[in-house]
Amino acid sequence: MKKYYSELVSRLQPYIAGEQPQDQKYIKLNTNENPYPPSPVALDAMREKLDEGLRLYPDPEAAELKRELASYYNLQIENVFVGNGSDEVLALAFMAFFKKNKPILFPDITYSFYPVYCALFEIDYQLIPLTEEFEINVAAYEQANGGIIFPNPNAPTGRALAAEQIQKLLQQNPGSVVIIDEAYIDFGGESAVQWLDQYPNLLVIQTFSKSRSLAGIRVGYALGNTHLIDALERVKNSFNSYPLDRLAIAGAVAAIQDENYFQTCKERIITTRENTASKLNSMGFKVLPSAANFLFAKHSRYPSEKLYLELKGKGILVRYFDKPRINGYVRITIGTDAEMNRFTEVLQAMLIT
Ligand code: PMP
Repeated sequence: MKKYYSELVSRLQPYIAGEQPQDQKYIKLNTNENPYPPSPVALDAMREKLDEGLRLYPDPEAAELKRELASYYNLQIENVFVGNGSDEVLALAFMAFFKKNKPILFPDITYSFYPVYCALFEIDYQLIPLTEEFEINVAAYEQANGGIIFPNPNAPTGRALAAEQIQKLLQQNPGSVVIIDEAYIDFGGESAVQWLDQYPNLLVIQTFSKSRSLAGIRVGYALGNTHLIDALERVKNSFNSYPLDRLAIAGAVAAIQDENYFQTCKERIITTRENTASKLNSMGFKVLPSAANFLFAKHSRYPSEKLYLELKGKGILVRYFDKPRINGYVRITIGTDAEMNRFTEVLQAMLIT
């Protein structure tokens, strides 16, 4: 039945998300979810909205959530855009800013949704290689381009770009929109939100999926100059008036208000990450320095695909990427201490047999 597809759809190679087994029997360290539950205040706020009010459409502007985010980041409501997960915000941003007559630039090793959006929206791109040690090479972005996007910290490497390097990149590129995908910023690295005043071409995108344990309700947002936000609104309102439902708006507002819970979970994950990294080092892994809620690691003699498959057989899911440059590594999401202890025990047993 492919004869009915458009040419564009026939050419697409869609993004493949990490496995989401439905039987729950795995220790899931493969999709960078938070191992801790959402804030109890957020859960209550969503329960409260489970009533006949669901008969009505939600606020198309999600103004309550925008106000909450604006005050959290010391911005105006006109500097905030919200969408159905940061994936949707990214997609709308690609449409709004990147279809230009020059290729956009992003790292060769990065979030694999970027080339997928480029194919869907017919945007040219050029990959800029990371250094040998998987760092973003800012000097290589000093060339004519139709826009720039990269995650900070980067995925799947976990490496953060230093503040002065980010500023250098922004200074080098006043003529293009620079999007910084900060899905993991709460776990380390320096957020570019502080420079929004100085750079009208900077768009920062964040999410409730990782540090706020709310991947299941799909809330992402963008922060930037009013002109950039206005462009995103134009695209959104040409596509879907109500990307956020009533439960998601209520849950996200309450999650932002529960600052203590957020700080506690995030600190726990950072501590567990550092402990896990040192255990992996002592087992013969090379572990990249991580500012995210995952580790990118490679064993000196154990092939990573084998590692992934054997761990899976033992009920532990990690992520393996069958791609040049990184097929020697596995990406390990940070779980609870109990999960990570189990993971390192199983690993230890595998490595000595
Ligand atoms: N950006 C990066 C770098 C990611 O790894 C992810 C998670 N897959 C996202 C954005 C999207 O997250 P969400 O749509 O859940 O907000």
